[in-house]
Amino acid sequence: MAPPLEPLTATGLLSSRLNPLQNPNPLNPIFVGALSRRRRGNRNGGSRCNVLCTAMSPRPMYSSRYAILGAGFAGLSVAWHLLRHTQKGSHVCVDIFDENGIGGGASGVAGGLLHPYSPKAKLLWKGAEFWKECLELLAVAEQANNAQRIKETDCVDGGIVLRRGILRPATSQKNAEILIENASSCLESCILETLDEKAAQSLIPGLCARFDLAIYMPGAMSIQPKRYLQALFSACQNLANDQSKSTGKERIINLRTQHVSNLQQLSGEYDSVIVCLGARVNTLPELSGKLPLRTCRGIVSELHLPTASRGEYADQSPSILSDAWLAFQGPRQVYMGSTWDWNSKLYDQNVSKEECARATEELISRASIFYPEIRRWSLVGAKAGLRAMPPLTENGSVPLLGCLNDLIGDRTNCMFWLVGGLGARGLLYHGLVGKLISQAVISFDESVIPFEFIDWKKRMPCIVS
Ligand SMILES: Cc1cc2nc3c(=O)[nH]c(=O)nc-3n(C[C@H](O)[C@H](O)[C@H](O)COP(=O)(O)OP(=O)(O)OC[C@H]3O[C@@H](n4cnc5c(N)ncnc54)[C@H](O)[C@@H]3O)c2cc1C
Repeated sequence: MAPPLEPLTATGLLSSRLNPLQNPNPLNPIFVGALSRRRRGNRNGGSRCNVLCTAMSPRPMYSSRYAILGAGFAGLSVAWHLLRHTQKGSHVCVDIFDENGIGGGASGVAGGLLHPYSPKAKLLWKGAEFWKECLELLAVAEQANNAQRIKETDCVDGGIVLRRGILRPATSQKNAEILIENASSCLESCILETLDEKAAQSLIPGLCARFDLAIYMPGAMSIQPKRYLQALFSACQNLANDQSKSTGKERIINLRTQHVSNLQQLSGEYDSVIVCLGARVNTLPELSGKLPLRTCRGIVSELHLPTASRGEYADQSPSILSDAWLAFQGPRQVYMGSTWDWNSKLYDQNVSKEECARATEELISRASIFYPEIRRWSLVGAKAGLRAMPPLTENGSVPLLGCLNDLIGDRTNCMFWLVGGLGARGLLYHGLVGKLISQAVISFDESVIPFEFIDWKKRMPCIVS
């Protein structure tokens, strides 16, 4: 779906977009290219207008001003890719708005388990690309984190990624057969091994693999989501600084701890606004009730093995994934998740005592089927997050991307974009979706996004044509 083309003159468009104080350079080739592409439409259709570029006289430098709403996995990935891919030598300002700061939504609560497979060990749609892009962002964040740790020698522990692998025990005989079949076609960059119970127990003493089968993903990992997001933000700052120094054109990224109550308030300020508000996207009046998303609250409990108890979890032992998951953080610390409370609207990360007790009991009874030792661990606390679940398609739960101007009927020059519906796999998805939307934003061209991500728009009756 092509972005709508407003009936504005080039001068009108420019003067409303440009702030002369911020645009010292008389000619900006990116802007000319971007505008002409937008005016011409794209391969998805749209009207043609080639006059604008040739008719325009030299103009002040165009400075790209982007607003990203939300500092979770989606928002920070978009920030990184915008800085990375906007043409070198242009002034760029990226403002990230988040009322709760970095990782204040579902991303900060996520278990952080990362691999490209479905619960049946089938490679997800675009799994190889998701995996590759996600690993690249992790590497970027780890590099920034390590540099920070060297600078601040008193910094505590601080690792982001736990590379201990993940093990998935079969849940039934039928499930075991399916796992074996799917595991035979796995990615080279994230292999799957089938283990019998004895082999699985050599990795995890005390494990119970009732159907004598477990899938081992040695390359899978778990991350510390908040620490990761902080590091990714630092990486964005470092990139902006380096680019400013090397080109002499200022690049800047700001985090604004601010609530955004509607899109309209931003349209005069920015060239593009990218909405990455997770499950709260529906609270914007312009989008309320217009997106095909369901919400689902999940609780994660933190457990510790009491100091007096023996049976520490070995450093090399993988985390475990089944009807519940156990993401081990250290010999005596584990995150256990998660519950699925469909259609809940409860956004609060805090969990009441009753809710915590109920959820933990449910999770322990599920986890103890494959790891009975968990009953000896004690509850420390719990946190909750709200997932934004997209519709199920033939490709699985595909995130929702695209331009929003036709949906909200916006007639200003600001372009609005969505990265939403990251569901229960936002960590895996965020690298690729951030890259794709950035390419679309920079080129003003939605058609650079594979159609499966924007297909949801075809089914929306409220699209303004
Ligand atoms: C319990 C649980 C466990 C999970 N475990 C995993 C896992 O192991 N692996 C995995 O890949 N995925 C996991 N997920 C899914 C993953 O967390 C989500 O897919 C992902 O966090 C979505 O990221 P996001 O950036 O779209 O949204 P969010 O992280 O929710 O970010 C949205 C941000 O917008 C901000 N915001 C909202 N409204 C406003 C406003 N009006 N103004 C300003 N700021 C606003 C919020 O503060 C928030 O920081 C889990 C989810 C839950 C709930």
